[in-house]
Amino acid sequence: MTSRTGRHFLHIPGPSPVPERVLRAMDRQVIDHRGPEFGVLGREVLEGCRTIFRTEGPVVIYPGSGTGAWEATIVNTLSSGDRVLMFETGHFATLWRQMAARWGIEVEFVPGDWRHGVDPALVEAKLAEDRGHSFKAVMVVHNETSTGVTSRIPAIRKAIDAAGHPALLLVDTISSLGSVDYRHDEWGVDVTVSGSQKGLMLPPGLGFTAISDKARAAGKSNNLPRSYWDWEEMLKPNATGYFPYTPATNLLYGLREAVAMMLEEGLDNVFARHQRLAAATRAAVEAWGLEVLCQNPDEYSPVLTAVMMPEGKGADAFRAVVLEKFDMSLGAGLSKLSDKIFRIGHLGETNDLTLMGALSGVEMGLAAAGVPHQRGGVLAAMASLRAGLDG
Ligand code: PLP
Repeated sequence: MTSRTGRHFLHIPGPSPVPERVLRAMDRQVIDHRGPEFGVLGREVLEGCRTIFRTEGPVVIYPGSGTGAWEATIVNTLSSGDRVLMFETGHFATLWRQMAARWGIEVEFVPGDWRHGVDPALVEAKLAEDRGHSFKAVMVVHNETSTGVTSRIPAIRKAIDAAGHPALLLVDTISSLGSVDYRHDEWGVDVTVSGSQKGLMLPPGLGFTAISDKARAAGKSNNLPRSYWDWEEMLKPNATGYFPYTPATNLLYGLREAVAMMLEEGLDNVFARHQRLAAATRAAVEAWGLEVLCQNPDEYSPVLTAVMMPEGKGADAFRAVVLEKFDMSLGAGLSKLSDKIFRIGHLGETNDLTLMGALSGVEMGLAAAGVPHQRGGVLAAMASLRAGLDG
């Protein structure tokens, strides 16, 4: 390995780089989680979360990963034998489906090509056919981190309403919250699941669920066992600031700082920045003569761009060259897409120049790895960024 100077470029689609301000905020002594200072911290971070999720309702923060928050969502709302409607948008939808199946949930998993999001018309058709209302939930991944494709949650909500169906809407925003416009209350979502290590710019280690009254009511009569993940005890901190078990105190210091940073920038500006960086990345991909995996421009991810390798060239060998020569980590293709794509993360603490550094590394890496492409991607990205500047 060549010797390293400067910083590592972490351009996977999460965990994302943690801002210095957040690192400094966490670099403090642990406090008594039953003491008065903690109560203030607990209430502050939960209030901050409600702002980011755009909900007036409660949010639960677990020490855990996004997968834990997936499980919390299932065990607090569904019963074994329940039917749910899910869509094969990619690797993460597939994993969530497997988890539901392990809990004895009967999943109708609508096949997909991993290049499109959930089709709202299909949601409406499936639910309209279900006259007996056997589907208890529609479960959707908002931003498929494995493919760089988003699903349009407001249109899916409309489809559920148009079918007059009472199913819960459960949405995974693990890689979108804090990077992509998202509105838990306004969009009528029942449970929004998230994690700390992507748009929220924290290290891994926190899982979140935002919960509607309807979702909470479903938990009063469902039959799945739970203890650690049970919402009822974990909802108390929303009023008191104190958690029923030891919280991840230092990550909460970081969360308080990350929320402050996002609100200082302004959430709409944060989302617009992600859109600009994503557009510049796609401009680069196009100029290289490569193909973006996502096929519907309305569903392009602001968080990451998945790029297809030319026939006969392995993505993993290319990524290894980029890591070796330029000290940059790019995202791998997962399961079906293994070795076929690489993913460029442009989320969290990124700006025009960090993106330009990353795209330069990709362009130099394509040349170094002997991947057929045209030059000029970096120039195209700069032109896209310039066009997006005010004035
Ligand atoms: N869902 C999505 C969309 C993800 O991107 C991830 C992780 O990358 C997960 C779920 C799983 O979350 P975690 O790895 O934090 O358990």
